[in-house]
Amino acid sequence: MDSAIECTAAALQKAERILVITGAGLSADSGMPTYRGLGGLYNGLTEEGLPIESALSGPMLQRNPGLCWKYLAQLGKACLGAAPNAGHEAIAELQRRKPECWVLTQNIDGFHRRAGSPPERLIEIHGVLAPLYCQSCGMESPELEEHLQRPLPPCCAACGGVLRPPVVLFEEMLPEEAIDALYAQVRKGFDAVLLVGTTASFPYIIEPVLRARAGGGFTAEVNPGATDLSNIVDARMQGSALDVLPHLLSHISR
Ligand SMILES: [Zn+2]
Repeated sequence: MDSAIECTAAALQKAERILVITGAGLSADSGMPTYRGLGGLYNGLTEEGLPIESALSGPMLQRNPGLCWKYLAQLGKACLGAAPNAGHEAIAELQRRKPECWVLTQNIDGFHRRAGSPPERLIEIHGVLAPLYCQSCGMESPELEEHLQRPLPPCCAACGGVLRPPVVLFEEMLPEEAIDALYAQVRKGFDAVLLVGTTASFPYIIEPVLRARAGGGFTAEVNPGATDLSNIVDARMQGSALDVLPHLLSHISR
């Protein structure tokens, strides 16, 4: 793995435009559960006998907000009890050293911001868990922690409507603004794309990798196991982001 780290460090050192794509594996090191790892699930089914994708869906939030919020609250509590780790910090530091380094994340915990990634170079494609806002009147409510201690679903102080987090639930569309921001940058081209803790093979992950490769750019992944893109990338660093990224960064000078 050391040679993969050195080869990636050399490529990142030379690169100006870099895209770091992060997924659940990065925040799992902070103790954040994946959807399938939420408490009380058995074979991926909730106590109500539903697939978690159905419990955490946009239609369920409308039909049965209390049920949807039961699982949103688990994510919210996990997020409030956890913090960014050395992997998030190494990425933020890479962005300080490389002013054209962007982050695309699937994670909804907001840890990249908390670790110091500049919001103007951060694309949170699935949204974030806070601040909540009212589905009826739009008013924001920043007190996630207080809401989670009260009966669910949380309600708007102004109009009594049901609050929701600005996340993309299952069966909901990705935010157009985030997609546009991503593709504007992908069209400009990236010298290097680094995948961190993601196994998801959505088009918005595969495309930047393939386009970087087609343009002569460098691609690499950090993941404990093999992914759909393992055979495509130039370098594969097997391990957790927590261990690999600080090591990688130590080879990249300012
Ligand atoms: Zn309201």
